[in-house]
Amino acid sequence: MTGVEDGRIKVLADRPAAEKGAYVLYLLQQANRSGFNPALEVAVAQANRLGLPVVACFGLLDGSNGFPEANARHYAFLLQGLSEAAAGLKKRGIGFVMRKCSPAELAVELSKKAAILVLDRGYLTIQKRWYREIVDRTDVRIVQVEGDVVVPVEIASDHHEHAARTLRPKIGRQIEAFLHPLPQAKVKHSAESLRLKSEIDISDPDAVLAGMDLDRSVPPVKRFRGGEGEAWRRLQAYLDGPFADYGTNRGRPEAGAASHMSPYLHFGQISPAEIALAVRAAKQGGEEDKAAYVEEVVVRRELAMNHVFFREGYDRYEDAVPEWARKALETHAKDKRPHLYSDEELVQGRTHDRYWNAAMAEMRETGFMHNHLRMYWGKKILEWSHSPEEGFDRTLRLNNRYFLDGRDPNSFTNVAWVYGLHDRPWARRPIFGTVRYQSENTLKKFDKDAYVKTVEALCAAEKETGAE
Ligand SMILES: Cc1cc2nc3c(=O)[nH]c(=O)nc-3n(C[C@H](O)[C@H](O)[C@H](O)COP(=O)(O)OP(=O)(O)OC[C@H]3O[C@@H](n4cnc5c(N)ncnc54)[C@H](O)[C@@H]3O)c2cc1C
Repeated sequence: MTGVEDGRIKVLADRPAAEKGAYVLYLLQQANRSGFNPALEVAVAQANRLGLPVVACFGLLDGSNGFPEANARHYAFLLQGLSEAAAGLKKRGIGFVMRKCSPAELAVELSKKAAILVLDRGYLTIQKRWYREIVDRTDVRIVQVEGDVVVPVEIASDHHEHAARTLRPKIGRQIEAFLHPLPQAKVKHSAESLRLKSEIDISDPDAVLAGMDLDRSVPPVKRFRGGEGEAWRRLQAYLDGPFADYGTNRGRPEAGAASHMSPYLHFGQISPAEIALAVRAAKQGGEEDKAAYVEEVVVRRELAMNHVFFREGYDRYEDAVPEWARKALETHAKDKRPHLYSDEELVQGRTHDRYWNAAMAEMRETGFMHNHLRMYWGKKILEWSHSPEEGFDRTLRLNNRYFLDGRDPNSFTNVAWVYGLHDRPWARRPIFGTVRYQSENTLKKFDKDAYVKTVEALCAAEKETGAE
């Protein structure tokens, strides 16, 4: 009994547990946390059953072998989170090995002495490739456990969903079966006696970052510190305060009603099920606020997982954007574009629109932007680019470069949303055709000058020295 729902568990390689295995191996890759981690709990239960310790491992990609589009901003947050995860694992008597190599390589190497290999689960192409490589290159029994969505992707739906309205009822029918607290089992056999060597000492994440060969042109941010403890502290503070008005205020970027959970979710430092349970149990907020939040963190987020899982070319305009929308944009490809900006003008926020520039500054300097501004930001890049293809490519590039939560299924899906994915045709407009347009009127729905002031203060705080 693990408390992990059967629907989360998949046997990827149905081989007997190795009799001479010295441990149960868990490749920590998507769920980078020691608590509320279904894959880890399955590994612990298997190890306890076999009378073995658990060893968790993490393969750190570096240099030319780096994770696609990852830079110092992303790695700093990742390493801070891994440092906490490693401490949490140690406290539970679980070993932790971290090496500079691909996750697949590390799993293949360490599984030679493992009885069973447990994987967690992500949906990006590179992750799917690692899973295939691990299955092909090992002889060990491999179990995969889905812990970073509430309803497992293939249980929610067996095809690419049209829109939130088609996925919502399917999630609604399954959610109660998958939204449970996750008890933490005691580890019966400590890994200490194994004396496994970790090539990397993650107790000092700043030193690990300093020793990496990576793109440092996008620096770490002070606004967000990575880690499961920090994620949980933020969530508690949010639920005790601003969440009370989520239903009414979530569309107002200056009101601070959003939870800022997306970086922690992206790096697997908190479980979406844990968040949804905490939201349901929150003392603040009415039923409407709770339902609105669960809609975002479960339905909208898992619609993104559905998209990248079932649409192989999720990062390419021609595959990610539906045909009706591409045709509509193509029809208007030659429309006059009153404003055209270069990549550099966009990055530096040198457009005629001071509110867009402020949003870009928030993203560039602090790694984050409110959802409503992300929509406006993306629609304007479409409008200010020579072609929809160019707009799509540079929106995705900027998104993944500067956002801490970039390079996520949510990134690919929401950039494609700007171009018509998961949407329907609207009234015809220049440049956009029947793809949804967003005018400057969007900015009238909230206090835009208060937002600019907030961004100025956030950017100034990033520049302060020693103010971590
Ligand atoms: C052009 C564009 C680009 C985006 N890029 C990203 C990205 O790179 N990474 C990313 O995680 N999200 C992205 N989003 C979705 C959304 O804007 C962010 O998830 C949200 O703003 C994160 O802030 P929060 O955690 O405070 O959200 P909250 O409002 O507190 O919501 C809680 C959680 O629900 C989920 N959620 C909220 N809004 C959405 C949404 N529209 N679609 C899917 N899930 C949602 C997120 O996991 C979020 O953390 C993008 C949206 C747009 C329009």
